Amino acid sequence: MIRNLSLLAILFSGAVCAAPNSWEKFQSPLERTPEPIGSYANGCLIGAEALSAKGKGYQVVRLNRKRNYGHPNLVDFLEDLGKKVKKENLGLMLVADMAMPRGGPFTKGHTSHQTGLDADIWLPLNYKNVDSLKGNLQSVSMVDKKAFVVNKRVWTDKQAQMIKLAADDKRVARIFVHPAIKKALCEKKWSSRKWLSKIRPWWKHDSHFHVRLKCPAGAVECKPQSPPPAGDGCGADLAAWYPENQPDKPAVKKPRPKRILPATCQALLKEAAISALKD
Ligand SMILES: [Zn+2]
Repeated sequence: MIRNLSLLAILFSGAVCAAPNSWEKFQSPLERTPEPIGSYANGCLIGAEALSAKGKGYQVVRLNRKRNYGHPNLVDFLEDLGKKVKKENLGLMLVADMAMPRGGPFTKGHTSHQTGLDADIWLPLNYKNVDSLKGNLQSVSMVDKKAFVVNKRVWTDKQAQMIKLAADDKRVARIFVHPAIKKALCEKKWSSRKWLSKIRPWWKHDSHFHVRLKCPAGAVECKPQSPPPAGDGCGADLAAWYPENQPDKPAVKKPRPKRILPATCQALLKEAAISALKD
C-alpha cells in the first residue's frame, strides 16, 4: 500500500524526477549570521530568511516548492518592491522561485538561484489572489516568439513600469528578460535610460523576469559578477539576440558542467550529515 502511494506521489509530481540532491532535502535554513557563499551558479546560503506567503502588494506562488528563501537583503528587496508596485497601482506582484532553505544547486531547472540573491517575478499583474490556484500554476508568456515582439494582448505599460521599479533599486545588479522584452523596453521613451543597462537579454524569460542582487557589503565569500557594460544595451548587444543573427543550427545542448562547490558549502554538507547521524 505504502509503495503504491509513493508511486502515485511520483506520478503526480511530474513523473521522471531525478533523485533530489542533499541541498534539495534541507527543510530549514542554517541559523547563523546570513552570508551568501560562492557565486550565483555555484554556491550556497547561510542564515536564509523566508519571504512571507503574502505581503503588501505581493504574493508568493507555488509555496509548496519551498523556494521562498533568500538572503535577508533579497527578502527586504521583494517586500519593498511589492509596496512600490501597490503604490503605483500596477496590480498584484507574484513572486516565484528564490532559493532553497540553504541555497545550493538544483538537480534540474535553475542553474543559478544558489546563493539567495536571485528571484523570479512573474510578469502577469492581473491576478487578484492566487490562494485558490495551488499546485502547478503556470505564468503567461508575454512574447510572440515567431514575430519576436511582445504580445500586446498581455504586455502592458504596467510590466515595463514594474521592471523599471526593480532596476532602479541600488541593491539590484542585473535583471534578465527575454530579448523581445528588452526590445520593447528599449523602444519606449524614458526620461532616463541609465537603468536599461541592468536589463540583460536571456532566453526563456518571457513569462517572468529574474532579479539578481549584488553581493551584500562585507560578505567576503560572496563572488560578485562584473557589472553590466555601460550604455543602455539597446544597440548591437541586443541585435545579436535577434533570430536573423542567430546561427542556422541550434547549438548542441551541452550537459551541465560539473562544478566543485566552495569549500565552505562542502563543509556545511558534512556538518549536516554528521548532526543527522547524531539525531
Ligand atoms: Zn530565475
